[in-house]
Amino acid sequence: MTVPRFWREIPQRYNLQASKCGACDAIHYPPRTVCPECRRASIGNLEEVKLSGRGTVLESTRVHKAAPGYEAQVPYTLALIQTEEGPVITGQVVDHDGRAVSAGDDVRAVFRRLGEDGDAGVIYYGTKWVLA
Ligand SMILES: [Zn+2]
Repeated sequence: MTVPRFWREIPQRYNLQASKCGACDAIHYPPRTVCPECRRASIGNLEEVKLSGRGTVLESTRVHKAAPGYEAQVPYTLALIQTEEGPVITGQVVDHDGRAVSAGDDVRAVFRRLGEDGDAGVIYYGTKWVLA
């Protein structure tokens, strides 16, 4: 990921910032400027909300071959997390000390180092998840 794109996304990454549609109450993460369900009816009708950081694992997988920039972290656990508010987020589950992460496990968001850009030496921080 490029540095400018990363910094543009900072509020959502750091604060789990989402959008709530005033027409249908749907919550979207990352935040939208138009609700995909209501479209025109949602324009000017969306408010920013912050996700609680609590959720439940829907599915998880152990990653052994990392994406560029994440090599130092393998193996790691990636999970689909159903947040309390509704949006499903893909996230890394950390600090589970070899314990299996399974569907139905409760998790909470924590602020951690995400990775780094080897060439630029930039370290990224953001949201990861731990077993609750
Ligand atoms: Zn809507």
